Amino acid sequence: MRPYALVQLRQDDTSASMYNLVGFQTNLKFGEQKRVFSSLPGLEKAEFIKYGVMHRNTYINSTEVLDETFNLKANKNIFFAGQITGVEGYVESIASGMVVALNAIRRYKCLENENLKIQKCSFPETTMIGALAKYISTPNKKFQPMNANFGILPPLEEKIRDKKIKYQKLADRALQDLKCNMI
Ligand SMILES: Cc1cc2nc3c(=O)[nH]c(=O)nc-3n(C[C@H](O)[C@H](O)[C@H](O)COP(=O)(O)OP(=O)(O)OC[C@H]3O[C@@H](n4cnc5c(N)ncnc54)[C@H](O)[C@@H]3O)c2cc1C
Repeated sequence: MRPYALVQLRQDDTSASMYNLVGFQTNLKFGEQKRVFSSLPGLEKAEFIKYGVMHRNTYINSTEVLDETFNLKANKNIFFAGQITGVEGYVESIASGMVVALNAIRRYKCLENENLKIQKCSFPETTMIGALAKYISTPNKKFQPMNANFGILPPLEEKIRDKKIKYQKLADRALQDLKCNMI
């Protein structure tokens, strides 16, 4: 038989007794999942501990409650990071965590020493991290989770049709702004 699809099994516990079927988000009824997945070669004798469900992102209304450093406006000692803020994806979540870490340490230093005045660390809007931070902290009645994409960056002054050139220019501008503002 010619294989035409792959199923990735990811180890779920240290004793290697449980495996997760990666990316199996489905609306299939549990009984149907057992029937279909048991028909996969190698899974005939598998015991199913948990069935697949469609994933749902749970996130706070960041546009109202957070600033561009993922800091809670109502309590400066509280930060949120990751997809709970409305960013979506691995890299995006890590990026928000980095912004939070940089700012939490600043906040801590200021609390330790009241005479210290340290500015918040926010990234320029022209960088992807800055654009995501702006997106989650700007009022928006239709707020939905957002991943990194060129569409959230402020447009270039010149109109460029060729996407490859346009994206390169957006990246160059981001690096330039980072150099000017943060180093
Ligand atoms: C099926 C699926 C496939 C995906 N594929 C991709 C992909 O290919 N590429 C990509 O970039 N992104 C992908 N994503 C999105 C990505 O997984 C998330 O955006 C990212 O993992 C979010 O990271 P996070 O640290 O914010 O949250 P999470 O990774 O969800 O971490 C939150 C942690 O908090 C813990 N927790 C929750 N409540 C409590 C509590 N009360 N007390 C203590 N701990 C608690 C949870 O157990 C969890 O460990 C996928 C998501 C799903 C569901």
